[in-house]
Amino acid sequence: MNREECLRLDAEDSLAKWRAEFAVPEGVIYLDGNSLGPQPKQAVEYVSEALKQWQSGLVRSWNSAGWFDAPARLGKKLAAIIGADPSEVIVTDSMSVNLFKLLVAALRIQLNRRTIVTEVGSFPSDLYIAQSVIRFFPDSTIRAVDADKVLEAIGTDTAVVYLSHVDFRTAHMHDIVSINQRAHQCGALVLWNLAHSAGAMPLHLSQTETDMAVGCGYKYLNGGPGAPAFAHVANRHQPMLDQPLSGWFGHQRPFDFLPDYQPADGMRQLLCGTPPILAYAALEASLDQFLTVDLELVRRKSTAMTQLFIDLVEQQSSHHELRLCSPRQSDRRGSHITLSHESGYSVVQAMIAERVIGDFRAPDLMRFGITPLYLRYVDIWDAVATLTRILDDETWRRPEYQQGNTVT
Ligand SMILES: *Cc1c(COP(=O)(O)O)cnc(C)c1O
Repeated sequence: MNREECLRLDAEDSLAKWRAEFAVPEGVIYLDGNSLGPQPKQAVEYVSEALKQWQSGLVRSWNSAGWFDAPARLGKKLAAIIGADPSEVIVTDSMSVNLFKLLVAALRIQLNRRTIVTEVGSFPSDLYIAQSVIRFFPDSTIRAVDADKVLEAIGTDTAVVYLSHVDFRTAHMHDIVSINQRAHQCGALVLWNLAHSAGAMPLHLSQTETDMAVGCGYKYLNGGPGAPAFAHVANRHQPMLDQPLSGWFGHQRPFDFLPDYQPADGMRQLLCGTPPILAYAALEASLDQFLTVDLELVRRKSTAMTQLFIDLVEQQSSHHELRLCSPRQSDRRGSHITLSHESGYSVVQAMIAERVIGDFRAPDLMRFGITPLYLRYVDIWDAVATLTRILDDETWRRPEYQQGNTVT
């Protein structure tokens, strides 16, 4: 493999046309779309339109501009992207908040079961939320195990299995089907966190009989910083749903202003308060784009690019103390590559100074997100060449790359 070969792959790539739809700054190789997706160009129009609706329509726009229906409307669009029924998805709140609502709802459905099975390496927020949830339920516990011990940890005392489909550190990807099957045999529910898979690959929530899921609007879905998240609950569980944040937007008739809570039918009962309409506008711009993207092609290119990244690192940088932390087996690998290096933070800072933007996760992980809609094969080549040069020249030792930022 050489740079010319990468250019040839780009010339033949049927997804290449999408790059022009994104506002990625000239000269930047953006390998952090798994943390904050870049701006789809049409987000500017969508947000400007919402600002105009606010300016001229004022409060009337809740009705006339479809603001009230935004959570369900965006939910339907998302459902198509994750292979769910349109009635099973709502766009609302943040992932952490949705996780709280659905974990409590799952424990309320599972009357006599009190164990949450999860992974030790879960995203911290996911563990923190679970730690709070169990304090509402006497005798409930969290059983946190390693990724390869999840199946055997599920038993007849399991209320809910709560897992990230793709691990935010390593990109290890669980098999949704086998975990759902094992859990269902034991009478447990499964709640999937799709933060690192929605928008990165095709998902089939209905076909895989997924019970519940939460996911993120601002990572692979490019919805903007702090974009609203989504929640999914299979139709068969919705009649039993009883979520703890019973705010007025989830009420059957919010504008009757009744003193007693009565949940709306279906997924609207997952809402709590007033939705942030400007943020919905930016996310909708991206969802409308995704509705015309073939996610099978995205996944195929992602797999080819993550493999290329691994191969090039091994070809060019094998003399450095780098360790591959992501699975080699492509069907067990999500859409990012993680390498460990003892000075990973400084190496990432030195790369960013050369406009190759990845990120760092403590204690020593360098993470590179691979997002096929706006990345080219040649970008992977150039990124690995930059990494190799920084390691060869030891540029990363410069004092300016040693200071810690708040957000890494
Ligand atoms: C990004 C991420 C989060 C962050 O949750 P927010 O509520 O959006 O801050 C939580 N869990 C996982 C697995 C993530 O990847």
